[in-house]
Amino acid sequence: MTLRYAIRPAHPGAHLFHVTVTVDAPDPEGQLFMLPAWIPGSYMIREFARHIVRLTALAGDKPVQVEKLDKHTWRCAPVKGALTVAYEVYAWDLSVRAAHLDPTHGFFNGTSVFLLPIGHEGAPCRVDLIPPEGARYADWKVATGLTPARGTRRGHFGTYLARDYDELIDCPVELGTFAHAAFDVLGVRHEIAITGEVRRLDLARLTTDLTRLCETQMRLFEPRGTRPKRGVPARGPAPFDRYTFLAHAVGDGYGGLEHRNSTALICKRDDLPYLGMKDSTAGYRTFLGLASHEYFHTWNVKRIKPAAFVPYDLTRENHTRLLWAFEGFTSYYDDLLLARAGLLTEAQYLETLASTMTTVMQRSGRLKQSVADSSFDAWIKYYRPDENAPNSVVSYYQKGALVALALDLTLRAGTRQRKSLDDVMRHLWRQWVEAGDDYAGVDEDGILSAAEAATGLALARTLTELTEGTRDPDFARLLAPFGIRFETRPALESPHFAMLGIKLADGKVQHVYDGSPAQQAGLSAGDVLVALDGLRAGEANLDKLLARYRPGDALQLHAFRRDALLCFDLTLAARAPPKFALTVDPKAPKSAQAARARWLGA
Ligand code: ZN
Repeated sequence: MTLRYAIRPAHPGAHLFHVTVTVDAPDPEGQLFMLPAWIPGSYMIREFARHIVRLTALAGDKPVQVEKLDKHTWRCAPVKGALTVAYEVYAWDLSVRAAHLDPTHGFFNGTSVFLLPIGHEGAPCRVDLIPPEGARYADWKVATGLTPARGTRRGHFGTYLARDYDELIDCPVELGTFAHAAFDVLGVRHEIAITGEVRRLDLARLTTDLTRLCETQMRLFEPRGTRPKRGVPARGPAPFDRYTFLAHAVGDGYGGLEHRNSTALICKRDDLPYLGMKDSTAGYRTFLGLASHEYFHTWNVKRIKPAAFVPYDLTRENHTRLLWAFEGFTSYYDDLLLARAGLLTEAQYLETLASTMTTVMQRSGRLKQSVADSSFDAWIKYYRPDENAPNSVVSYYQKGALVALALDLTLRAGTRQRKSLDDVMRHLWRQWVEAGDDYAGVDEDGILSAAEAATGLALARTLTELTEGTRDPDFARLLAPFGIRFETRPALESPHFAMLGIKLADGKVQHVYDGSPAQQAGLSAGDVLVALDGLRAGEANLDKLLARYRPGDALQLHAFRRDALLCFDLTLAARAPPKFALTVDPKAPKSAQAARARWLGA
């Protein structure tokens, strides 16, 4: 029996969606409804039910009693015939994870707006997308991965279909007057919808570059997925019929969330290409990296996924120690595939990689938490960082990308360049393809067994050390066979970080790093610096003042902690924390250059 939903931007100015769900055959004992506590891909309990305002139930035109059972579950009194629950959702979260509505646009994830009638998880869903009332909304269109029902024109308001609730909540919807373009990649239709005022947007450049990127990714997983002779896919070059990029351009923002046939992105307006832009800018490369990351997830985590996510339990934390593979490998491939697609030069790629190394290795959190532990505790640590996070948490994204790098280089060197992490990804992919509906996910040892099966190498020690250990990989040794030098330089560009060991934000100390002069002197997050050796000091001029000091010098800092003025005596760090650089060794043997070309696809 089909579940029937309807959603309408009822009051854009007040950020309210009006939603109904109708169950034709409700549970005779009293139908339960629940709203997810989290959204897959973003591992934190968010309790979306807190944004539900006013909920009522009707059977025909008779009101039905509703009882709240816990924070996200409701029970309706038993009724005969169809049951409709109606509610408002407050949508004012400008992120890719929830819902946002104002007179300029609407965006929602199903996890924020669609109640699940418990027991009907497998039922097909129909959603009526109803336009807001008023002439100012006459031009609003629709972009989503949902399938339009017969009679509804894609891109317009009307009725859309999902196979089941899982698909319904995996297809975010954008409503508004976005810029739009469509392009084909290996015969598969792709679309991009860009919301937000973007002047002189170069849509042609964007679609050309995305085409190269998407094709590179499809060919990674299905190198023989197309029959070039007839141009008809054999199995299909991709696990979807269409793909939609939903991008929201804002003044300052960054984020993405992966879905089965779409992604929602938030990016800086300035990062998007403009007509007449000749070279690619660092901001544009950041945007392409984000698009690449989310697109790669279409395979890695939306299909190849931890057993712990099969199926998702949307009421509570779903623990796995493998996010280093699902987020870390994805973070490794996002930039690597830009390089292979020709959208990053070799030098740009190596610079990006070195900057990830610097970020990870400047923080002592990596010495205390493994990427497997970080994965498990994502829900309470990585996703809920506090002022001490750099000293206590390692990112399974960034360190996970370095684990992927170390593993990839180990596999390449260990098989005389015959096998690589690409083969491991394809092995995991074939497991998904072959299992069909019986796919049980990757169990907690599944990455190791796939890596061993794909390469014939014994990898238990290497992989355990990388993922359960906290030692830095030996990058100099790993990169040498590829003709790349790993170099260490002092990080002197930011004197307050290098010499004091603090990070400032909004005029306050945000982080105090382990073992730093600031930590030794007792400076804390939240302190407001006011003077350095008797001169007024703040975020704007601190680095200028510090430039006159040398490592080993003593100085005095004054800062407010809440309303109390404190004085700190400290001695500047004798050695600045390191920064890493990767450079191509021009004297490396030809075999190393060939290995590098194979790896980077140059
Ligand atoms: Zn990700």
